Amino acid sequence: MKALPRLILALPPLALLAGCIGEPDKPQRRPTQAARPAITVPSPAARQCMATLGSQHAVFSPVADRYYGSGCSTVGTVKLSALNTDSSTVSITNLGPVTCNTATPFAAWARFGVDRAAQQILGSRIISIETYGSYNCRNVAGTARRSGHATANAIDVSGFVLADGRRVSVLDDWNGGSPAERRFLRVVHESACKRFGTTLGPDYNAAHANHFHLEADGKSFCR
Ligand SMILES: [Zn+2]
Repeated sequence: MKALPRLILALPPLALLAGCIGEPDKPQRRPTQAARPAITVPSPAARQCMATLGSQHAVFSPVADRYYGSGCSTVGTVKLSALNTDSSTVSITNLGPVTCNTATPFAAWARFGVDRAAQQILGSRIISIETYGSYNCRNVAGTARRSGHATANAIDVSGFVLADGRRVSVLDDWNGGSPAERRFLRVVHESACKRFGTTLGPDYNAAHANHFHLEADGKSFCR
């Protein structure tokens, strides 16, 4: 991410506003080149987070901040292309912009929690982590409180694909898998609890029967 400060200096002032699409009622502030793609200028905190994320062997690109109203936004987010573990590259399916704050423990979890557990317990490395995505402008089910998904701060993980072709899913294998698969899912859930503020799985409630909810929210809630 060393190129970022140089990028900012090179930008004309109007281009800095290209990412401010949360202010559509101020057309006079829009750049003159209407077709110009949105340019991301991460905050210092975001840049620091992205440096940390890069040190976790993640392949990613910053995403322009967006505000959707009603408490929903994608601010300080990245698009994760892949995660490099000790010896291979793990793809992430179905994941749009996610906050760097959550992407960073996610990368570490994939590398140190999931991949190593897969090799030790299942005898194969992982090649893919399947998700139900991150951003979703909604409340926590049954409450008036905004979900971590409303700010792209949570990732729902539904399963893992192994290099030997096996697929271990939260829905099918949390209770229905082989003893090794069940143990693997519990170990990676426990590992997530150490890295995320909130980790929810099938034992929390029926809404999480098919995925792990992983969110870096500074809390300490593991179910
Ligand atoms: Zn979730």
